[in-house]
Amino acid sequence: MTDFAVLKNMQPQPELVRENIKKDPGFGLYFTDHMSHVRYTLDDGWHAHQVQPYAPLQLDPAAAVFHYAQEIFEGLKAYRHADGSIWTFRPDRNAIRINKSAERLALPQLPEEDFIESLKALVALDQQWVPTPESAADESSLYLRPFMIATERFLGVRSSHEVDYYVISCPAGPYFSGGIKPVSIWLSQKLNRAGAGGTGFAKCGGNYAASLVPTNEAVAQGCQQVLFTDAAENKYIDELGGMNLMLVTKDGRLLTPELGDSILDGVTRRSLLDLAPQLGLEPEERRITVEEWREGAANGDIVEAFACGTAAVVTPIGRVVSNDFTIDHGEEPGAKTMEFRRTLLDIQYGRIEDKNNWMVRLA
Ligand SMILES: *Cc1c(COP(=O)(O)O)cnc(C)c1O
Repeated sequence: MTDFAVLKNMQPQPELVRENIKKDPGFGLYFTDHMSHVRYTLDDGWHAHQVQPYAPLQLDPAAAVFHYAQEIFEGLKAYRHADGSIWTFRPDRNAIRINKSAERLALPQLPEEDFIESLKALVALDQQWVPTPESAADESSLYLRPFMIATERFLGVRSSHEVDYYVISCPAGPYFSGGIKPVSIWLSQKLNRAGAGGTGFAKCGGNYAASLVPTNEAVAQGCQQVLFTDAAENKYIDELGGMNLMLVTKDGRLLTPELGDSILDGVTRRSLLDLAPQLGLEPEERRITVEEWREGAANGDIVEAFACGTAAVVTPIGRVVSNDFTIDHGEEPGAKTMEFRRTLLDIQYGRIEDKNNWMVRLA
């Protein structure tokens, strides 16, 4: 592990501004005073580990990332516990995942220790930006966004010889203001975000670019999210644009599509599967057809549906809408859905014992 040098921001945002932002941060709008940075070149490997003032990047217009989208990212949160200490959730999983993404996008492997240290170094310096939850219902945190971009000035099509890795962070308020309400999701029957042999399992910007038109379609249909199916047959459930999907059956199983080329290996997904037995559910990863969901919801075999991911934790799904049919799970969040949500948040905020040793202290 390489230590991160510290280049302090001499003009941090005034305390009053910072405290006001923390009162109502929304999501992804306001950024802290610093960012982590590590530079990579083919000759020197990763070097110049540093936390530096948050500022716009200056990149050559011919930088590869602008043309060929050689880019990956991660997303995790820092949680302030009641004693003031700051923790994050299973960052080792994100460290492994960014390297899986890097491998697929022909970007260099970042040592896992450097990934973890890039978070620690940033949060140590910007710890006053981590909100203090006022109650168990207050789900505020500091969202951490590591990303890696190809920065070589070269328009030839090959993997970049120069790469930069950064971590930026922003305070995040509760995803659902005014109570947890089930969302409606739109079934994308023609447009896909990923396919066999593609980049669906990698956390790369390109997948998100491909999900925007279907997401706009979803919004036009009065839905908040889009559900993607497999690109080959449009028959099997994959996931949402940025969240994994889970179903709860009447006979006590937690169903989720098995991982493959087109499904992202979510840390939240993995953790809920691990927690399932404690909540009296048997986890089951396998292929699931839209038809199975539709029939199961209609005949009462499938009783709850939810989406999961770092940003929104666990989001109950009330309805699936398509051109041909609607799947209805009702107006109220399911009991197991809410139990999963509560359990995960209680672990993350240090309110219950962390039996699995998932939490890592950042500051
Ligand atoms: C990040 C992401 C998720 C959720 O992963 P978590 O590690 O649980 O935050 C799910 N699907 C996609 C496409 C994602 O990019």
